[in-house]
Amino acid sequence: MPDEVRDIKSLDLNDIESGLADLGEPRFRTRQLVRWLYGRGVAGFDEMTDLPQALRSSLAERYRLGRPVLVTREVSADGTRKYLWRLSDGTTVESVGIPAGDRLTVCYSTQAGCAMGCTFCATGRSGLTRSLLPGEMVDQVLGVATDMRSRVSNAVAMGQGEPFANYDSTLAALRFMNSPDGMGIGARHLTVSTCGLLPGIRRFSTEPEQFTLAVSLHSAVQTTRDAIMPGVRRYPLHQLREVLAAYGTDTGRRPTLEYALAAGTNDSDAELRALVDFCRGLLCHVNLIPMNPVEGSRTARPEDARVRSFAAALASAGIECSIRAERGADINAACGQLRQRHPA
Ligand code: SAH
Ligand code: SF4
Repeated sequence: MPDEVRDIKSLDLNDIESGLADLGEPRFRTRQLVRWLYGRGVAGFDEMTDLPQALRSSLAERYRLGRPVLVTREVSADGTRKYLWRLSDGTTVESVGIPAGDRLTVCYSTQAGCAMGCTFCATGRSGLTRSLLPGEMVDQVLGVATDMRSRVSNAVAMGQGEPFANYDSTLAALRFMNSPDGMGIGARHLTVSTCGLLPGIRRFSTEPEQFTLAVSLHSAVQTTRDAIMPGVRRYPLHQLREVLAAYGTDTGRRPTLEYALAAGTNDSDAELRALVDFCRGLLCHVNLIPMNPVEGSRTARPEDARVRSFAAALASAGIECSIRAERGADINAACGQLRQRHPA
Protein backbone atom coordinates (compact mmCIF):
# COMPACT_ATOMS: atom_id res chain seq x y z
CA MET A 1 0.00 0.00 0.00
CA PRO A 2 1.28 3.53 -0.72
CA ASP A 3 2.27 5.64 2.32
CA GLU A 4 -0.04 8.50 1.52
CA VAL A 5 -3.06 9.09 -0.64
CA ARG A 6 -2.58 12.18 -2.82
CA ASP A 7 -5.24 14.30 -4.47
CA ILE A 8 -4.88 13.53 -8.16
CA LYS A 9 -5.92 17.12 -8.91
CA SER A 10 -2.62 18.30 -7.41
CA LEU A 11 -0.57 16.62 -10.16
CA ASP A 12 0.88 18.28 -13.25
CA LEU A 13 1.51 16.40 -16.47
CA ASN A 14 5.00 15.22 -15.42
CA ASP A 15 3.69 13.98 -12.06
CA ILE A 16 1.04 11.93 -13.86
CA GLU A 17 3.63 10.49 -16.20
CA SER A 18 6.04 9.55 -13.41
CA GLY A 19 3.23 8.20 -11.22
CA LEU A 20 2.20 5.86 -14.02
CA ALA A 21 5.83 4.91 -14.73
CA ASP A 22 6.20 3.97 -11.03
CA LEU A 23 3.29 1.60 -11.55
CA GLY A 24 5.13 0.06 -14.50
CA GLU A 25 2.66 1.44 -17.04
CA PRO A 26 3.55 2.31 -20.65
CA ARG A 27 3.72 5.98 -21.63
CA PHE A 28 0.49 6.06 -23.62
CA ARG A 29 -1.42 5.63 -20.35
CA THR A 30 -0.63 9.27 -19.50
CA ARG A 31 -2.73 10.52 -22.39
CA GLN A 32 -5.55 8.13 -21.51
CA LEU A 33 -5.61 9.30 -17.91
CA VAL A 34 -5.49 13.00 -18.89
CA ARG A 35 -8.39 12.39 -21.26
CA TRP A 36 -10.50 10.93 -18.45
CA LEU A 37 -9.53 13.61 -15.94
CA TYR A 38 -9.61 16.75 -18.08
CA GLY A 39 -11.19 15.82 -21.39
CA ARG A 40 -14.22 14.02 -19.98
CA GLY A 41 -14.01 15.12 -16.35
CA VAL A 42 -15.04 11.83 -14.74
CA ALA A 43 -15.78 11.52 -11.03
CA GLY A 44 -14.15 8.16 -10.32
CA PHE A 45 -11.49 5.71 -11.50
CA ASP A 46 -14.20 3.12 -12.19
CA GLU A 47 -15.44 5.22 -15.09
CA MET A 48 -12.05 4.95 -16.88
CA THR A 49 -13.18 2.01 -18.95
CA ASP A 50 -10.20 1.75 -21.29
CA LEU A 51 -7.78 1.31 -18.36
CA PRO A 52 -7.20 -2.25 -17.10
CA GLN A 53 -9.12 -3.03 -13.92
CA ALA A 54 -5.88 -3.65 -11.99
CA LEU A 55 -4.59 -0.19 -12.90
CA ARG A 56 -7.88 1.44 -11.88
CA SER A 57 -7.57 -0.26 -8.49
CA SER A 58 -3.97 0.80 -7.94
CA LEU A 59 -4.84 4.37 -8.91
CA ALA A 60 -7.75 4.35 -6.48
CA GLU A 61 -5.40 3.17 -3.69
CA ARG A 62 -2.90 5.91 -4.37
CA TYR A 63 -5.03 8.89 -5.33
CA ARG A 64 -8.14 10.68 -4.24
CA LEU A 65 -10.37 11.80 -7.09
CA GLY A 66 -13.19 14.24 -6.50
CA ARG A 67 -14.98 16.97 -8.36
CA PRO A 68 -16.17 20.38 -7.17
CA VAL A 69 -19.79 20.38 -6.06
CA LEU A 70 -22.06 23.06 -7.49
CA VAL A 71 -23.50 25.07 -4.59
CA THR A 72 -25.32 27.84 -6.42
CA ARG A 73 -25.74 29.06 -9.95
CA GLU A 74 -27.08 32.48 -10.88
CA VAL A 75 -28.16 33.43 -14.38
CA SER A 76 -27.92 37.02 -15.59
CA ALA A 77 -30.39 38.69 -17.94
CA ASP A 78 -27.59 38.77 -20.55
CA GLY A 79 -26.98 35.00 -20.34
CA THR A 80 -23.87 35.22 -18.16
CA ARG A 81 -23.84 32.59 -15.43
CA LYS A 82 -22.06 32.74 -12.08
CA TYR A 83 -21.18 29.55 -10.23
CA LEU A 84 -20.22 28.89 -6.64
CA TRP A 85 -18.34 25.60 -6.18
CA ARG A 86 -17.44 23.70 -3.05
CA LEU A 87 -14.05 21.99 -3.22
CA SER A 88 -13.14 18.75 -1.44
CA ASP A 89 -12.00 20.49 1.79
CA GLY A 90 -15.09 22.71 1.95
CA THR A 91 -13.39 25.80 0.47
CA THR A 92 -15.64 27.68 -1.95
CA VAL A 93 -14.71 29.50 -5.18
CA GLU A 94 -16.56 31.28 -7.95
CA SER A 95 -16.37 31.12 -11.74
CA VAL A 96 -18.30 32.88 -14.50
CA GLY A 97 -19.48 31.67 -17.92
CA ILE A 98 -19.86 34.41 -20.52
CA PRO A 99 -21.53 33.44 -23.82
CA ALA A 100 -21.16 35.69 -26.89
CA GLY A 101 -22.43 34.41 -30.21
CA ASP A 102 -20.78 31.06 -30.80
CA ARG A 103 -18.08 31.74 -28.24
CA LEU A 104 -18.02 30.84 -24.58
CA THR A 105 -15.50 32.49 -22.27
CA VAL A 106 -14.98 31.05 -18.81
CA CYS A 107 -13.51 33.21 -16.09
CA TYR A 108 -12.05 30.95 -13.38
CA SER A 109 -10.39 31.45 -9.99
CA THR A 110 -6.77 30.55 -9.27
CA GLN A 111 -7.02 31.06 -5.50
CA ALA A 112 -9.81 31.16 -2.97
CA GLY A 113 -9.64 34.82 -1.98
CA CYS A 114 -6.54 36.94 -2.63
CA ALA A 115 -3.75 38.36 -0.51
CA MET A 116 -2.99 41.41 -2.67
CA GLY A 117 -5.54 43.73 -1.07
CA CYS A 118 -6.51 45.96 -4.02
CA THR A 119 -8.92 48.49 -2.55
CA PHE A 120 -11.47 48.35 -5.38
CA CYS A 121 -11.79 44.55 -5.57
CA ALA A 122 -14.28 42.43 -3.64
CA THR A 123 -11.96 39.41 -3.67
CA GLY A 124 -9.16 41.40 -2.06
CA ARG A 125 -11.33 42.42 0.88
CA SER A 126 -11.52 39.07 2.61
CA GLY A 127 -7.88 38.01 2.23
CA LEU A 128 -6.50 34.70 1.02
CA THR A 129 -8.01 31.38 2.04
CA ARG A 130 -5.74 29.15 -0.05
CA SER A 131 -4.25 28.60 -3.47
CA LEU A 132 -6.05 26.19 -5.79
CA LEU A 133 -4.68 22.96 -7.24
CA PRO A 134 -4.25 22.67 -11.02
CA GLY A 135 -7.20 20.29 -11.32
CA GLU A 136 -9.39 22.58 -9.22
CA MET A 137 -8.90 25.29 -11.87
CA VAL A 138 -9.57 22.98 -14.84
CA ASP A 139 -12.62 21.54 -13.10
CA GLN A 140 -14.23 24.98 -12.86
CA VAL A 141 -13.87 25.41 -16.62
CA LEU A 142 -15.13 21.89 -17.30
CA GLY A 143 -18.04 22.41 -14.92
CA VAL A 144 -19.16 25.57 -16.73
CA ALA A 145 -18.81 23.86 -20.15
CA THR A 146 -21.00 21.00 -18.94
CA ASP A 147 -23.63 23.30 -17.48
CA MET A 148 -23.73 25.54 -20.55
CA ARG A 149 -23.58 22.54 -22.90
CA SER A 150 -20.95 24.25 -24.97
CA ARG A 151 -17.34 23.98 -25.92
CA VAL A 152 -15.19 26.59 -24.19
CA SER A 153 -13.50 28.90 -26.70
CA ASN A 154 -11.63 31.08 -24.18
CA ALA A 155 -10.61 30.73 -20.55
CA VAL A 156 -9.34 33.65 -18.49
CA ALA A 157 -7.66 33.53 -15.08
CA MET A 158 -9.55 36.63 -13.96
CA GLY A 159 -11.70 35.24 -11.18
CA GLN A 160 -10.61 35.23 -7.57
CA GLY A 161 -6.92 35.26 -6.80
CA GLU A 162 -3.56 36.28 -8.19
CA PRO A 163 -2.41 33.59 -10.67
CA PHE A 164 1.29 34.42 -10.37
CA ALA A 165 1.10 33.97 -6.59
CA ASN A 166 0.23 30.36 -7.53
CA TYR A 167 2.43 30.11 -10.60
CA ASP A 168 3.20 26.40 -10.93
CA SER A 169 -0.38 25.25 -10.41
CA THR A 170 -1.70 27.87 -12.83
CA LEU A 171 0.74 26.76 -15.54
CA ALA A 172 -0.12 23.10 -14.96
CA ALA A 173 -3.81 24.00 -15.31
CA LEU A 174 -3.20 25.98 -18.51
CA ARG A 175 -1.42 22.97 -19.99
CA PHE A 176 -4.34 20.64 -19.22
CA MET A 177 -6.76 23.19 -20.73
CA ASN A 178 -4.52 23.52 -23.79
CA SER A 179 -3.80 19.82 -24.31
CA PRO A 180 -5.75 18.05 -27.04
CA ASP A 181 -6.28 15.26 -24.48
CA GLY A 182 -7.65 17.81 -22.02
CA MET A 183 -9.91 20.67 -23.10
CA GLY A 184 -8.16 21.50 -26.38
CA ILE A 185 -8.37 25.28 -25.94
CA GLY A 186 -5.82 27.14 -28.11
CA ALA A 187 -2.96 28.71 -26.13
CA ARG A 188 -3.72 32.21 -27.44
CA HIS A 189 -7.24 31.80 -26.08
CA LEU A 190 -5.93 31.13 -22.60
CA THR A 191 -5.33 34.43 -20.79
CA VAL A 192 -3.71 35.04 -17.43
CA SER A 193 -4.27 38.35 -15.66
CA THR A 194 -1.75 39.46 -13.04
CA CYS A 195 -1.66 42.50 -10.77
CA GLY A 196 1.98 42.83 -11.80
CA LEU A 197 4.15 40.29 -9.98
CA LEU A 198 7.31 40.85 -12.02
CA PRO A 199 9.03 37.49 -11.41
CA GLY A 200 5.88 35.81 -12.72
CA ILE A 201 5.76 37.97 -15.86
CA ARG A 202 9.44 37.24 -16.57
CA ARG A 203 8.87 33.52 -16.17
CA PHE A 204 5.70 33.57 -18.23
CA SER A 205 7.64 35.08 -21.16
CA THR A 206 9.89 32.00 -21.24
CA GLU A 207 7.09 29.43 -21.43
CA PRO A 208 7.00 27.70 -24.81
CA GLU A 209 3.24 28.09 -25.34
CA GLN A 210 1.70 31.29 -26.75
CA PHE A 211 -0.50 31.99 -23.74
CA THR A 212 -1.90 35.52 -23.49
CA LEU A 213 -0.87 37.98 -20.77
CA ALA A 214 -2.98 40.72 -19.20
CA VAL A 215 -1.63 43.06 -16.54
CA SER A 216 -3.72 45.14 -14.16
CA LEU A 217 -2.21 48.60 -14.38
CA HIS A 218 -5.04 50.84 -13.12
CA SER A 219 -2.74 53.84 -12.75
CA ALA A 220 0.55 54.94 -14.25
CA VAL A 221 1.08 57.37 -11.34
CA GLN A 222 3.14 55.68 -8.63
CA THR A 223 1.41 57.26 -5.63
CA THR A 224 -2.05 56.41 -6.97
CA ARG A 225 -1.10 52.83 -7.81
CA ASP A 226 0.52 52.37 -4.38
CA ALA A 227 -2.68 53.54 -2.72
CA ILE A 228 -5.10 51.33 -4.65
CA MET A 229 -2.84 48.29 -5.20
CA PRO A 230 -0.83 47.96 -1.97
CA GLY A 231 0.20 44.38 -2.77
CA VAL A 232 2.49 45.44 -5.63
CA ARG A 233 4.19 48.46 -4.02
CA ARG A 234 7.44 46.52 -4.14
CA TYR A 235 7.34 46.43 -7.94
CA PRO A 236 7.51 50.07 -9.07
CA LEU A 237 6.04 51.21 -12.36
CA HIS A 238 9.36 51.85 -14.09
CA GLN A 239 10.35 48.23 -13.46
CA LEU A 240 6.95 46.99 -14.61
CA ARG A 241 7.44 48.92 -17.83
CA GLU A 242 10.91 47.42 -18.38
CA VAL A 243 9.63 43.91 -17.79
CA LEU A 244 6.71 44.48 -20.17
CA ALA A 245 9.04 45.85 -22.85
CA ALA A 246 11.20 42.73 -22.50
CA TYR A 247 8.08 40.54 -22.65
CA GLY A 248 7.14 42.13 -25.99
CA THR A 249 10.66 41.73 -27.39
CA ASP A 250 11.04 38.14 -26.19
CA THR A 251 7.63 36.83 -27.21
CA GLY A 252 6.48 39.17 -29.99
CA ARG A 253 3.10 39.16 -28.27
CA ARG A 254 1.06 42.16 -27.17
CA PRO A 255 0.03 42.17 -23.51
CA THR A 256 -3.23 43.79 -22.46
CA LEU A 257 -3.08 46.51 -19.81
CA GLU A 258 -6.27 46.55 -17.75
CA TYR A 259 -7.31 49.96 -16.51
CA ALA A 260 -10.44 50.10 -14.36
CA LEU A 261 -11.59 53.72 -14.38
CA ALA A 262 -12.76 55.13 -11.05
CA ALA A 263 -14.09 58.66 -10.80
CA GLY A 264 -11.72 60.99 -8.95
CA THR A 265 -9.06 58.29 -8.55
CA ASN A 266 -7.41 57.54 -11.88
CA ASP A 267 -9.50 59.40 -14.45
CA SER A 268 -7.94 62.88 -14.31
CA ASP A 269 -6.06 64.50 -17.17
CA ALA A 270 -2.81 64.03 -15.25
CA GLU A 271 -3.52 60.30 -14.94
CA LEU A 272 -4.33 60.17 -18.64
CA ARG A 273 -1.01 61.82 -19.52
CA ALA A 274 0.88 59.38 -17.29
CA LEU A 275 -0.91 56.46 -18.97
CA VAL A 276 -0.03 57.77 -22.43
CA ASP A 277 3.64 58.16 -21.37
CA PHE A 278 3.67 54.65 -19.94
CA CYS A 279 2.26 53.11 -23.12
CA ARG A 280 4.10 55.13 -25.73
CA GLY A 281 6.57 52.87 -27.52
CA LEU A 282 5.38 49.81 -25.63
CA LEU A 283 3.81 46.84 -27.40
CA CYS A 284 0.46 46.80 -25.55
CA HIS A 285 -3.29 47.12 -25.77
CA VAL A 286 -5.21 49.11 -23.14
CA ASN A 287 -8.52 47.68 -21.97
CA LEU A 288 -10.57 50.31 -20.16
CA ILE A 289 -13.03 48.86 -17.63
CA PRO A 290 -15.62 51.17 -16.10
CA MET A 291 -15.15 50.36 -12.40
CA ASN A 292 -17.76 47.93 -11.09
CA PRO A 293 -19.40 48.68 -7.76
CA VAL A 294 -18.18 46.66 -4.80
CA GLU A 295 -19.91 46.42 -1.45
CA GLY A 296 -18.24 48.56 1.19
CA SER A 297 -16.18 50.52 -1.32
CA ARG A 298 -17.05 54.05 -2.31
CA THR A 299 -15.29 53.85 -5.66
CA ALA A 300 -17.61 54.83 -8.51
CA ARG A 301 -17.18 54.74 -12.25
CA PRO A 302 -16.90 57.98 -14.22
CA GLU A 303 -19.63 59.19 -16.58
CA ASP A 304 -19.76 57.27 -19.88
CA ALA A 305 -18.60 60.43 -21.67
CA ARG A 306 -15.40 60.46 -19.60
CA VAL A 307 -14.72 56.79 -20.39
CA ARG A 308 -15.17 57.57 -24.07
CA SER A 309 -12.95 60.65 -23.97
CA PHE A 310 -10.23 58.63 -22.20
CA ALA A 311 -10.40 56.05 -24.97
CA ALA A 312 -10.38 58.73 -27.67
CA ALA A 313 -7.34 60.43 -26.16
CA LEU A 314 -5.43 57.13 -26.07
CA ALA A 315 -6.38 56.38 -29.64
CA SER A 316 -5.25 59.78 -30.85
CA ALA A 317 -1.90 59.22 -29.12
CA GLY A 318 -1.59 56.06 -31.23
CA ILE A 319 -2.27 53.67 -28.35
CA GLU A 320 -4.45 50.70 -29.12
CA CYS A 321 -7.39 50.53 -26.73
CA SER A 322 -10.87 49.15 -26.15
CA ILE A 323 -13.65 49.53 -23.60
CA ARG A 324 -14.67 46.30 -21.92
CA ALA A 325 -18.34 45.46 -22.32
CA GLU A 326 -19.90 44.82 -18.95
CA ARG A 327 -21.43 41.38 -18.42
CA GLY A 328 -23.35 39.86 -15.55
CA ALA A 329 -23.41 42.94 -13.31
CA ASP A 330 -26.99 42.16 -12.18
CA ILE A 331 -25.71 38.99 -10.48
CA ASN A 332 -22.44 40.55 -9.21
CA ALA A 333 -20.47 38.50 -11.72
CA ALA A 334 -18.60 41.40 -13.33
CA CYS A 335 -14.87 42.05 -12.91
CA GLY A 336 -13.82 42.49 -9.32
CA GLN A 337 -17.15 41.45 -7.85
CA LEU A 338 -16.29 37.85 -6.96
CA ARG A 339 -15.81 37.32 -3.28
CA GLN A 340 -15.46 34.59 -0.74
CA ARG A 341 -18.86 33.37 0.27
CA HIS A 342 -19.57 31.01 3.06
CA PRO A 343 -23.07 29.72 2.57
CA ALA A 344 -24.70 28.63 5.80
N1 SAH B 1 -5.53 39.08 -9.64
C1 SAH B 1 -5.53 39.26 -11.04
C2 SAH B 1 -6.69 38.60 -11.74
C3 SAH B 1 -8.05 38.68 -11.13
S1 SAH B 1 -8.88 40.24 -11.13
C4 SAH B 1 -5.45 40.72 -11.38
O1 SAH B 1 -5.64 41.54 -10.51
O2 SAH B 1 -5.14 41.02 -12.52
C5 SAH B 1 -9.45 40.43 -12.82
C6 SAH B 1 -9.51 41.91 -13.27
O3 SAH B 1 -10.61 42.59 -12.64
C7 SAH B 1 -8.25 42.69 -12.91
O4 SAH B 1 -7.85 43.53 -13.96
C8 SAH B 1 -8.76 43.50 -11.75
O5 SAH B 1 -7.94 44.59 -11.48
C9 SAH B 1 -10.15 43.86 -12.20
N2 SAH B 1 -11.01 44.40 -11.14
C10 SAH B 1 -10.95 44.19 -9.81
N3 SAH B 1 -11.94 44.86 -9.17
C11 SAH B 1 -12.63 45.52 -10.12
C12 SAH B 1 -13.77 46.37 -10.10
N4 SAH B 1 -14.41 46.67 -8.96
N5 SAH B 1 -14.22 46.86 -11.27
C13 SAH B 1 -13.61 46.54 -12.45
N6 SAH B 1 -12.54 45.73 -12.52
C14 SAH B 1 -12.04 45.23 -11.38
FE1 SF4 C 1 -6.33 40.14 -6.01
FE2 SF4 C 1 -6.61 40.85 -8.58
FE3 SF4 C 1 -8.49 41.50 -6.75
FE4 SF4 C 1 -6.11 42.71 -6.70
S1 SF4 C 1 -7.65 42.83 -8.34
S2 SF4 C 1 -7.21 41.88 -4.91
S3 SF4 C 1 -4.76 41.07 -7.31
S4 SF4 C 1 -7.94 39.45 -7.40
